[in-house]
Amino acid sequence: MTTIAIQFGIKEALTQLGIREVNEGTSTGKSSFSSGAILESYSPVDGQLIAKVKKTSAADYEKVMQAATEAFQSFRLIPAPQRGEIVRQFGEKLRKNKEALGKLVSYEMGKSLQEGYGEVQEMIDICDFAVGLSRQLHGLTMHSERPNHRMYEQYHSLGVVGIISAFNFPVAVWAWNTALALVCGDVCVWKPSEKTPLCGIACQNILAQVLQENKLPEGISCLINGDYKLGELLTKDSRIPLISATGSTRMGKIVAQTVAARLGKSLLELGGNNAIIVTPDADIKMTIIGAVFGAVGTAGQRCTSTRRLIIHESIYDKIKESLVAAYQQLRIGNPLDEKNHVGPLIDIDAVEKYGKALEKGISEGTKILVDGAVLSGAGYESGCYVQPAIVEADNSFEIVQQETFAPILYLLKYSGTVENAIAIQNNVAQGLSSAIMTNNLREAELFLSVTGSDCGIANVNIGTSGAEIGGAFGGEKETGGGRESGSDAWKVYMRRQTNTINYGSSLPLAQGIKFDL
Ligand code: NAD
Repeated sequence: MTTIAIQFGIKEALTQLGIREVNEGTSTGKSSFSSGAILESYSPVDGQLIAKVKKTSAADYEKVMQAATEAFQSFRLIPAPQRGEIVRQFGEKLRKNKEALGKLVSYEMGKSLQEGYGEVQEMIDICDFAVGLSRQLHGLTMHSERPNHRMYEQYHSLGVVGIISAFNFPVAVWAWNTALALVCGDVCVWKPSEKTPLCGIACQNILAQVLQENKLPEGISCLINGDYKLGELLTKDSRIPLISATGSTRMGKIVAQTVAARLGKSLLELGGNNAIIVTPDADIKMTIIGAVFGAVGTAGQRCTSTRRLIIHESIYDKIKESLVAAYQQLRIGNPLDEKNHVGPLIDIDAVEKYGKALEKGISEGTKILVDGAVLSGAGYESGCYVQPAIVEADNSFEIVQQETFAPILYLLKYSGTVENAIAIQNNVAQGLSSAIMTNNLREAELFLSVTGSDCGIANVNIGTSGAEIGGAFGGEKETGGGRESGSDAWKVYMRRQTNTINYGSSLPLAQGIKFDL
């Protein structure tokens, strides 16, 4: 164990979470098995090998699918509120493991310890939400057009849900899906990101304990580990009615087509290109806090990270100067140390993409205000720490149109009315999160109106980054159109059935059709 890992109690956290030097990467609950090759998990915090995970082979995948499909047969028969009780117990176990799991998230993924704990808190929150939901999976009743008929709709369990997740929310995204899927009576097969396999094993161990304590079939929650090829097994598998996939738009386009080819359902949570509009009526202090946290939090590796600031020309220079001054205060370093604001990028590949994006920007005519750099020397040995950059640009630049998963903030200027800013904000392919900073009611309401933001999330006087679990989360356009977490997002995990019952003694047909025999 390295100095950082020892100093911050990572070894104890790994032991508590059941992580060993070499871990089985395939699990159907209490049975862990694997015969595949090895996946190594290195920490971007200090570049050290944390542990190894055996990849899931095609043969093991078959065993998992068998366990999951069998488990579904009985799990769907358990009343929903009793399934809610299982999720309640899972939430309790998460509370007990919050510190250990939060530390692992921070060490394996590189986000700040506070954000690591925050991610586990989101898991706990969605469990609480799902417990209440387990008594509210209700449909509607309708009035039939025929006499002595009753019509209503109900929701039934769907089956096996395949969950494919990204590295940047290595535990919460799985929990958003799993907590809802379980109360809906579904069973889950999860393929975490190949960049954060240990977080997957830790989560699986926690939920498996709950299933075991309740003597439930282990196939209710299954884990498989590997790269995109394993993801493809899920997307092509017609035994899986729903694929919930979180990741890049590039991945989502492939997944969507593969699942659609077999007429399965997909829930897609893909890339964003999120902007904050700053109008002349904005509160400057709130704007700077929202913009800086949005741009550099999680080192710019949130799907909701602020990538573009669209600032009115009358306050442009003031905002620019305040931002540059704020960036000078940023402390970049070990994310487990709470005094640091910015941790590392996930790996060297991400660092290269960050460098290339800055270079491409310059070739297109961007002007650097706070220069990017890869940090080296003591504390930066992993090679994954970069300086957050601020760049003046135009929305039409190719690089501004793309999502670069790194802390690069583009400043864009607008003139005239807020409609011009909204047009710039909407003029990208992605549609996840958006925000306006203004104390002007007209501007705020216009931003939220049908001609306003075209994103799945539109905030007023809050940044773009982060969201509460109570609302449905997701985005439009190339963000994929999926919604998960709160509100009525549960409906995608169930199949809807419309029922009409005739309690009369004749058989009138709908639409007044006569068929006399
Ligand atoms: P990624 O697309 O590289 O990988 C995501 C997951 O998809 C991984 O588990 C990967 O193995 C799998 N995968 C890749 N290709 C696949 C294929 N052809 N078939 C099946 N599975 C495949 O993304 P990443 O680098 O891990 O994460 C960053 C991206 O995720 C960013 O674009 C970010 O915006 C997005 N993201 C979106 C949300 C959201 O809710 N909208 C949340 C988190 C991350």
